Amino acid sequence: MIPVTTFSGKHVALFGLGGSGLATAQALVAGGAEVTAWDDNPDNVAKAAAGGIGTGDLHHADWTAFSAFVLSPGVPLTHPKPHWTVELAQKAGVEIIGDVELFVRERAAAAPDCPFIAITGTNGKSTTTALIAHILTSSGRDTQLGGNIGTAVLTLDPPAASRFFVVECSSYQIDLAPTINPSAGILLNLTPDHLDRHGSMEHYAEIKERLIAGSDTAIVGVDDVYTEAIADRAALAGRHVIRIARHRPLGQGFYADGTRIMRAEGGLSSVFADLDGIATLRGNHNAQNAAAAIAACLAVGVSESEIRDGLASFPGLKHRMQPVGRKGDVVFVNDSKATNADAAAPALSSYDRIYWIAGGLPKEGGITTLAPFFPKIAKAYLIGEAAPAFAATLGDVVPFEISGTLEQAVAHAAADAAKDESGPLAVMLSPACASFDQYKNFEVRGDAFVSHVAAINGVTMLI
Ligand code: ADP
Repeated sequence: MIPVTTFSGKHVALFGLGGSGLATAQALVAGGAEVTAWDDNPDNVAKAAAGGIGTGDLHHADWTAFSAFVLSPGVPLTHPKPHWTVELAQKAGVEIIGDVELFVRERAAAAPDCPFIAITGTNGKSTTTALIAHILTSSGRDTQLGGNIGTAVLTLDPPAASRFFVVECSSYQIDLAPTINPSAGILLNLTPDHLDRHGSMEHYAEIKERLIAGSDTAIVGVDDVYTEAIADRAALAGRHVIRIARHRPLGQGFYADGTRIMRAEGGLSSVFADLDGIATLRGNHNAQNAAAAIAACLAVGVSESEIRDGLASFPGLKHRMQPVGRKGDVVFVNDSKATNADAAAPALSSYDRIYWIAGGLPKEGGITTLAPFFPKIAKAYLIGEAAPAFAATLGDVVPFEISGTLEQAVAHAAADAAKDESGPLAVMLSPACASFDQYKNFEVRGDAFVSHVAAINGVTMLI
């Protein structure tokens, strides 16, 4: 745990006692702060109180007594409308921050030079974060991996001079981290997502920009108009900017050329690494992730050969284009993490003939942008709330059924694929939707997919 000493002796309000909120409250208490924590869920409050955390209904608190208000990133700061605690904090002039900000301040106080790599973007954050942490760990460095990827940042070991922190940041976390200042900050890409929570694309982009605006080295994917403008602004502001591209060559920076990651300097290019044969880094999207990881590792002093070795031995992540089972010519692929159409595109582009399970809680735009892949889809199996809208998009172009549940979808897709004799096939869950209408989160949905696959007669599991 990282005891938060920067609020020692001060009174801090905290709202949101889910996993990271509780860990944050504990870290504040361990550092000597007085905490008044609250949550809409009485069970969470009771759990915190049982763990020695001060609790109290923030409706009735004296907000003038608080030095800061720590908000859980899952609670609305601005959109669709500020949470009631946010309004009370603002009325009292109390600063509103999150756990990443507490980490940043602790690092500044205890070990300001400790290497800190922060990663954001609409897609590819977890893969890039895990890849960087793997390169650092496998080269023998003391590495701490956390943030949005699942381990609350304040549960990590405390900042120290030669300890490397690799922290995935969602836009919500950046919004609550006004002084974030990584040694290397990565912004991978920006496409519309979570606009319900950010209001507009411009506001969403502005929040993401803050991560690299405070970075010593700003690593920016320049394949979309938003990030390209952000890279230009950072360079104009005098930041050290390293551009990465997956769709076109660059004169300076890192770019993908097929499976090769090229390094360009002063208009001259050379091959830095080749991802050919690295199963966990398949696809052009992973070239973007790998290029970002390479740039970040170089920025914090990792050698070229250590980076190449780390790329080659990357074990990959669950729920991201993960082959989980095989039966004859059919491979079963768990891509549950693809919670929007952009995230589903890489998986659909990676296989030639697909029995596609899609649906859940739809995101803006649905699956219209996936139309170029429709010719590869032998049949679609639609689940969850999105099913009618997706059916309308597929229309007469792609055969589909409304399966309703994932269990039905897997059973029907497996049966149909078994009758298909046209060569290698994928039965793939790449839902292009959030999971919350039917599952607690994408992990639970992916695990359910794996268990339905395991129930198929004659399947060989690959995990
Ligand atoms: P995040 O943490 O940002 O949600 P992940 O690394 O977990 O991203 O990947 C989620 C899904 O997004 C993957 O299954 C893959 O299909 C897709 N994806 C991964 N990297 C990228 C990228 N750089 N650009 C676009 N899509 C990507």
